[in-house]
Order: sequence, then structure tokens, then C-alpha cells
Amino acid sequence: MTLPQLKLPDTLNYVGVFLTLECNLNCNYCINDPQQSGQRESLFPIKAKSLRKSLTPDEWVLALNRIPYREDLPITLQGGEPMLYWSGKGLGMILSETSHYFDLLTNFALKPETFVNNLNGQQEKLQRDAPYPSIRVSYHADEMNRVWRGQGFAELVNRCKALADYGFRVSAVKAESDVGIYMVEHPQNQLTPEMESAYAGCVPFESKEFLGVHEDKLYGHYLYPFSTDLIARNIHPNTLSCECKTTELLLDPLGFVWGCHFYLYQNWVSGGPIKEFEELENLGFRFSENQEKIFANHNLAPIGHMLDPDFSMEDLDIFRFCSHYGRCIGCDTKIKNNRFQSYYDQGITHTSVMIRNIQMPTSLYDKIENLDQAQKFFTPPL
Ligand code: SF4
Ligand code: SF4
Repeated sequence: MTLPQLKLPDTLNYVGVFLTLECNLNCNYCINDPQQSGQRESLFPIKAKSLRKSLTPDEWVLALNRIPYREDLPITLQGGEPMLYWSGKGLGMILSETSHYFDLLTNFALKPETFVNNLNGQQEKLQRDAPYPSIRVSYHADEMNRVWRGQGFAELVNRCKALADYGFRVSAVKAESDVGIYMVEHPQNQLTPEMESAYAGCVPFESKEFLGVHEDKLYGHYLYPFSTDLIARNIHPNTLSCECKTTELLLDPLGFVWGCHFYLYQNWVSGGPIKEFEELENLGFRFSENQEKIFANHNLAPIGHMLDPDFSMEDLDIFRFCSHYGRCIGCDTKIKNNRFQSYYDQGITHTSVMIRNIQMPTSLYDKIENLDQAQKFFTPPL
């Protein structure tokens, strides 16, 4: 069985697949936490083994083979912890039956030999020629030091280095390495001299801007005023209405397509669209025909399903009403480069979502830096 190929717009910048939202670690600050306020295990109530919480590898193959191969557009596998998907065997099963390049965002949960065995000889799908490593390993100090008895960073560096024994390129130069280590510049994260000497000369290491609010301070640069801190910093008592559309193809563990990270994460914080998935499966995954019935009364609904034969990329290109402006996730509204490095090279800003008609209260105008530039995104409140 095959499904119709999707027609990718040139503007599509990112394909992100959250293979599983389960994770071996329980970080205090979790990238999947819309509020950045708690330990992950209490956030995602998805432990029950009996529940169907992800597509099978065969279903992912069907879904991902709809995406035309493009050398410069990898499919990014992420989570949770994607190495653990389908008891660790899922990555290799998917990579074996698809022709794409993949990027992997991981905490390196498995030993290198187990990880590579699970890949079924498909390493080259994780070896794209790119300016940055395809396997991007995140460092989480507290949890990794707990699990690896105080040797968290050293163990992570050793796991990365060991990939060289299995045909991966491992180099201190990021454009020449298939693997690199990344750390979020959270105010509580420190790069120590011991860490520097552990990675120096062998594995690329980079810190990534922390996005969000910590101790009432906003970190990161955002195109849309108060999009991530309106509620977190008590700037206004309620979220605002606006219209929004995405420039990314974001897929959750059950193959639903989402308009932004907030909608995706918040649904899984509430247990995930598991019942809705069962209903949809019984209807042959015909999301477009049945979405109004299945997602009636949801104000955080997905915008499609990858196994719906009628799903098309045009479904992304629609501004949809949203009443959650102000709780947006930083990675959606921060100013960044597109995959052509547009911001660094030409000063052209890119954001993962495009927002318009924000019903910004005029009482907040005097708190907005660059009001002149931001005002084009606003519409007067009703
Ligand atoms: S490793 Fe990543 S996904 Fe897992 S708990 Fe930590 S931040 Fe969250
Ligand atoms: S406005 Fe924010 S919360 Fe609403 S859809 Fe856009 S990114 Fe998501």
C-alpha cells in the first residue's frame, strides 16, 4: 500500500517527527514542557503500557515515504528520546525502508554498539553532508550525572567518540562530524574547564540559546511581542487571539500533524490524542472528512494526519484562529535562520510560525520595544 506523494513547498524549512514522547531521563527543565515548570515524568502521563502511543514502524514508513526525497531537507527524528522508539529497534526499521536522510536529536540513551546494531546497517542515512552534525546529542547535567554516577559529560563524549568505530565521522570540526554535543544556555547550566578538556580536539560542542522565562527574565529574541512570556511573566491576565500558520511539518508520535509546538506538547501533557486516534483509525485515517466530528470542542486540534490519503501540504498554508497567543513555545516565535542561513547572510528574519491579527491590548503598547515594526502584526481588540 502507498499513499499519494506530498508536494513540498520551497518554503518548507523543517520536518520534525516526535517518534515517542517517552524518555529515559526526567530533567527539571524539559524542552517538551510548555510551562518549563516541572519534572517530565509528572508532565506526560503516558506510561501505561496498554495504550497505543505511537505509530508502528511500518506505519511510519508509509507516512514518511509520502515526503519526496530532498538532499537538503532531512527528516529530524526527535522526542522524548527517539533511540528508545519501538524498544530501540524502530529507528533501523524506519531507516531501512525509506530513502531520506535523517537527523537525530537524542540524549544518547543507548550504548553505541546497541544503537548501531539497531540501525540495521543504515548508518549512511545519518551521514548527510551538512554544515552541522546530523546526530545532535543534548547534554543534561543533573540527570546524566545521576545516571552515570557523576561522569555524565565524560560518558557522553566517550559515546560520541565510539561512533568512529562504526563508520561514523567523528571530528572536532562540526562540518566534518556526524555527531556533536549541545547544551542549552540555561542560567543553571555551566560549561566547566573539565568539560572543555573532555571534548576539546575530538567532538564538536556548542551551547544553544535558552528560550523562555527564568526568574522572571525572558531569554531569547522573538519576532512577536510577549508571544512566550505574556502569561509566564504576568504581563497580562489572559492569552490573546490571533491568526497563525506554520512553516514546518511537525508530526507527533501518532502521526498527527500540528500547527505549532505548543499545540502538540499541550495535547500530550493532557494524555495525548489517543482516543481520537482510535476513532480515526476505524475511519481509515480520513482526517479531513472527519476532523470536525472527532475533534469537536477541542480548541487545540491538530491540522491533519499523515496517513490520511487526502492530507496535503496546502493544509499547512492556512492562517487559523488561535486564542493561546502568549503561551507560544520559544522555538516557534524566536527569530532564527531558515535552512539557507537567511538571517545571518541577508538579515531576513525567519520564524517557525507566521502570526497576524494579534489582538494586542493598546495598554501594552508602551511596553513593546520596536512598536513601529511590531504593530503590523496587530489588529485592534474587538
Ligand atoms: S532528555 Fe530531553 S526530552 Fe528527556 S527529559 Fe531531558 S529535556 Fe526532556
Ligand atoms: S499563536 Fe502561538 S500558540 Fe497559537 S498557534 Fe501560533 S504558535 Fe501556537
